[in-house]
Amino acid sequence: MKEEDTWKCSYCGKPTARGNAYFPFCSQRCKMADLGRWMLEDYKIAEPLPEEGEAPADESEPAQ
Ligand SMILES: [Zn+2]
Repeated sequence: MKEEDTWKCSYCGKPTARGNAYFPFCSQRCKMADLGRWMLEDYKIAEPLPEEGEAPADESEPAQ
């Protein structure tokens, strides 16, 4: 199957088109949201990770 003029928004999956100013997104909101997501990913990767086996005490651990 060949996509000609329609595409799905890379962020929300709504149909968009190559002529769209925000292609491959459907709107500026999705474009910015996706960029923000990637920036967060970069930030997480750049951040020094705690040593494995010793999880930092945080609120995500359920109380026993
Ligand atoms: Zn979208």
